[in-house]
Amino acid sequence: MTTDSGSWVAPGRVNLIGEHTDYNDGFVLPLAIPLQATARVSRRDDRTVRARSRQRRAERREFTVDTEPGDVTGWASYVAGVFWAFRQAGHQVPGADIAVNSTVPGGAGLSSSAALECVVALALSDLAGLDLAPDELARLAQRAENDYVGMPCGVMDQMASMRGAEGQLVFLDTRSGHTEHVPFDLAAAGLALLVVDTRAPHRLVKGEYAERRADCEQAAKLLGVPALRDAELGDLTPDRLPDRLLRRARHVVTENARVLRVVEQLRAGTDPRAIGPELNASHDSLREDFEVTVPELDVAVATAVDAGAHGARMTGGGFGGSIIALVDDHAVEAVAAAVAAEFDRRGFTAPRHFTATAARGAHRLAT
Ligand code: ADP
Ligand code: MG
Repeated sequence: MTTDSGSWVAPGRVNLIGEHTDYNDGFVLPLAIPLQATARVSRRDDRTVRARSRQRRAERREFTVDTEPGDVTGWASYVAGVFWAFRQAGHQVPGADIAVNSTVPGGAGLSSSAALECVVALALSDLAGLDLAPDELARLAQRAENDYVGMPCGVMDQMASMRGAEGQLVFLDTRSGHTEHVPFDLAAAGLALLVVDTRAPHRLVKGEYAERRADCEQAAKLLGVPALRDAELGDLTPDRLPDRLLRRARHVVTENARVLRVVEQLRAGTDPRAIGPELNASHDSLREDFEVTVPELDVAVATAVDAGAHGARMTGGGFGGSIIALVDDHAVEAVAAAVAAEFDRRGFTAPRHFTATAARGAHRLAT
């Protein structure tokens, strides 16, 4: 079905567990959150795309549907990248006027970028009458970010944004591309997922991310496996891997195992408090072995746990961004206040917090 205009939304995400596994053919377990990007889009009769954003008022952009990487930089590269990815995949796409407004804070580790790409991808699919499946749209959005924007991210964020569902986690096997929903009803267990945006400035993210990716590829090569997904803990010995690569690989291998255990526990209907230690172990591994945390993330996690969280970890790529903490619902404000007080004591920027419930993925709004 083609359409001339409409409004579409796509959410941000937090990752419950499975960090830096998505470019190692591994497992991830994110949820879409109620913060989302909205796009009002109408088809044009020419090949021009005009893009604006409520959050970038001074930076309106114009380009054509035949845009190539490098033409458009800055925020609109995420939009232009989607047009490019569609064209690369052989799809005919019309020009469009696009007005974005997003409640996903940028650079907070909540994937405002995937929300933006996915909302444009879904709108474009509908405008062009392509009816592409959510998984295909997620991959096109990832392609836009990898090869147009130039950020070598895995597919987790886009898949979470496209496939999120109310009360459900998105369990994704990034090798097969298979996703399954896993029930995640914290309220029924008297729990809440506290998200604290540390507001630590993101530094060097792109470069560090690319380095971690390269480390993982190198480790897999030395181990003689297609991807770290295929490595086992017993393979990771100093005679096969230099120290840094051994630690990178150990994070990926143990993190994949943690994801599988969490999925098993949640599916079995175990009290979700039982996954707390897995969250803590994930953070320790990201700090010690993968080295993607910063003091703000470590302090927020340690303080949340001291203040009574059942488990906590950084979420997203790291180097700043947000943490998640599994807390009793009556303790949300106390835990958040403890983190804020500790940040104040240390002279860090004041953090922001909210509680996340698992929300619906990208969709068109009824008009
Ligand atoms: P994250 O995805 O963790 O929020 P990224 O650095 O990957 O952080 O993506 C943030 C970038 O995405 C912003 O710098 C901007 O270019 C773009 N972006 C996200 N949301 C918007 C928006 N509402 N309007 C314009 N650009 C946006
Ligand atoms: Mg991003």
